[in-house]
Amino acid sequence: MNDLLDKLKKYRERDWSYDSGRIFSSMCTNPLDEALEAHQMYTDVNALDSKIFPSAKRLESEVIRKISALYSSTHAGGYITSGGTEGNIYALWLARKLRDKGEKVIAPISAHYSMQKACDLQQLKLIQTTLNDQYKAEVEDINEQTDKETIAIVATVGTTALGKIDPIREIAEIAEDAGCFLHVDASFGGFVLPFIKNAPPWDFEIESVSSITSDPHKMGLTPIPSGVLLVRDHSWIDELRMDIPYLDQTSATLLGTRPGASIASTWMALNLLDSNNYGRIVRRCMKLTRQLAEGIRGISDLRLVTEPELNLVSFTSNTSDVSQLRVALERRRWLVSLNSQPESVRLVVMPHHREEHIRSFLNDLRECVRELS
Ligand code: PLP
Repeated sequence: MNDLLDKLKKYRERDWSYDSGRIFSSMCTNPLDEALEAHQMYTDVNALDSKIFPSAKRLESEVIRKISALYSSTHAGGYITSGGTEGNIYALWLARKLRDKGEKVIAPISAHYSMQKACDLQQLKLIQTTLNDQYKAEVEDINEQTDKETIAIVATVGTTALGKIDPIREIAEIAEDAGCFLHVDASFGGFVLPFIKNAPPWDFEIESVSSITSDPHKMGLTPIPSGVLLVRDHSWIDELRMDIPYLDQTSATLLGTRPGASIASTWMALNLLDSNNYGRIVRRCMKLTRQLAEGIRGISDLRLVTEPELNLVSFTSNTSDVSQLRVALERRRWLVSLNSQPESVRLVVMPHHREEHIRSFLNDLRECVRELS
């Protein structure tokens, strides 16, 4: 037994650690200690079975109420998911159920690839629309593609590649005219936008936003997995409710057996981090993002793809191949990822980053650029 644990420990030691500040490729981070403790306390809790574990049901209702309020609603319903992918699949499942005909889903090309999974699984036809020169959804294209066969439009606040915020208000007008479902994927932005100044409207405040998915396990400082799926009207969820004959209960979630740990940790994080604390963490990430962007602007070979709106920075090089830059950075123990559209280096600035990490990264980046040019 001890040998096996030692072996596991050794495997783990070979993994990268967020604490090093050298991971810029991930939208996840270290969870709060208390959220981790809550997670551990609930590892054996199956949220499907509220007869055995009524506390999970109670915590989940509290979480949904709290997040609904954060997203400008008093009557939203929802549940704790495993993350954005599940939230996106569920939203389209519900959209199809609420609208009895049509099979088209309109989503800008910048939508997360889980939208392709969601459509493929449910045999929906995904129409990918174009972006404007700011890399946001091109509203006119969505308008042209939307018709009576459209069951849902999907928009993103905090696109995976560039952290861009789609113009939800304009897209909502199209959804309203077409009478179709509007799903907002806020997997990344959902725990950033409520805490920054001058954020554009994006949540249930806009009448025709039908559902929102957001991820505590990204900027919400909880352990993996935890996501939240919210729908405007809590009664919609009942459309997907089924009897569980062997438990004498019902289920309206995508998964059957579900981790109570995700619920408990999200409950803990939300209760611990009142808006002020979240705000402080988010603002620090945004400040570091600006410093990083400024530093990159100062390297003559490099060019920002776009001005950062959230805590993501992407850049390209006038002379070097970005994949070579990534390799050179990794040789110096920095983990970054690459975007394909447009080809660029992608950096996510997370709560595990500090000013010294940004400075040290920029120094190494300058050297890599010099080395490659
Ligand atoms: N949606 C967006 C915008 C994302 O950025 C991501 C992941 O990065 C997802 C959905 C999928 O989230 P998950 O990997 O938690 O399922």
